[in-house]
Amino acid sequence: MSRPILARIDPAAFRHNYLLAKARAPQSRAWCVVKANAYGHGVLRCAEAVRDVADGFALLDLAEARILREAGFTQPILLLEGFFDVEGLLEAARLDLDVVLHDESQLRMLEATPLPAPLSACLKLNTGMNRLGFPAEQCPGLLVRLQQSGKLAQITLMTHFSDADGEGIDAQWTRFTAQLPAGMPFSCSNSAALLRFPQTHGNWVRPGIMLYGGSPMPAALSAESIGLRPVMTLQSRIIATQTLVAGDTVGYGSLFRADKPMRIGIVACGYADGYPRHAPSGTPVLVDGQLTRTVGRVSMDMLVADLEHLPQASVGTPVVLWGEGLPADDVATSAGTVSYELFCALAPRVPVVQAGH
Ligand SMILES: *Cc1c(COP(=O)(O)O)cnc(C)c1O
Repeated sequence: MSRPILARIDPAAFRHNYLLAKARAPQSRAWCVVKANAYGHGVLRCAEAVRDVADGFALLDLAEARILREAGFTQPILLLEGFFDVEGLLEAARLDLDVVLHDESQLRMLEATPLPAPLSACLKLNTGMNRLGFPAEQCPGLLVRLQQSGKLAQITLMTHFSDADGEGIDAQWTRFTAQLPAGMPFSCSNSAALLRFPQTHGNWVRPGIMLYGGSPMPAALSAESIGLRPVMTLQSRIIATQTLVAGDTVGYGSLFRADKPMRIGIVACGYADGYPRHAPSGTPVLVDGQLTRTVGRVSMDMLVADLEHLPQASVGTPVVLWGEGLPADDVATSAGTVSYELFCALAPRVPVVQAGH
């Protein structure tokens, strides 16, 4: 038998979450954001789950876009960072991709390169995130220039919010709408804005994390309360147990010290599988379907679960690290990170299986 860790991906849950996102923005089309190999879930697997209902897909890698086109997906596919050189621009045109235009260098390439057919583009304005985008106030001049280029079939105005999951969007929204010509298509909403700020929905929303069953603001709103279902369940088994007496320590650095006799289970999952090494003692973990906690430092291939209330647990007992029965948000919060990072960090060595198989 091989090492017992695996990631189970539930396509039906992904589909449910996408349809929920669409229901929360009923006037808009929804880019199904599948960048970073669908946040670690597998781009083709996720796309297949929504093949007949997806309005479009958004990602960064030409290679991932090619995978979708070769698999027969005919929906619009948006390159969220656009193209990086003329070759990329031509390949985007060949694959009939939509491109984000966020920088002067891209406009120059677009203007200078003959294309087989006009492209659809999102013109990205920087309204305060200060990552990608033209200064918002340049919008009128840019629109004139793009129209004059003759290279675009359609232009959507776009921005990205820095605090849709927290303080809010007021300043950025004001700066954006000041530039938005009446009737022009626009796209602004990540998952958090989709759920909290319906005025930002526009023509295309851009849900990502919610499609994978993560809450964009877990401190305020659990994934379950939004109606989202977990898509990835990272599961493994206990491969050894130890019985400690008071004063015994666990793992590297002896970070955990038992203050009474206790039993612990060694779980085949470590940071080389993508489990966060900085998850402290006390991070939630499910053993045999029951909530318990980790103890000691996460090592490369193993972590340790407290078996205090689990006398039946022994070698072979199933463990869920996150997913079905244990929200990834709870593990992420304990580890001081976000579910996005847990999902994306799933290591290539972890076998992935589809739920129901
Ligand atoms: C990743 C990304 C999204 C999706 O964000 P979530 O917080 O995962 O919903 C939306 N828009 C852009 C530009 C992105 O890069």
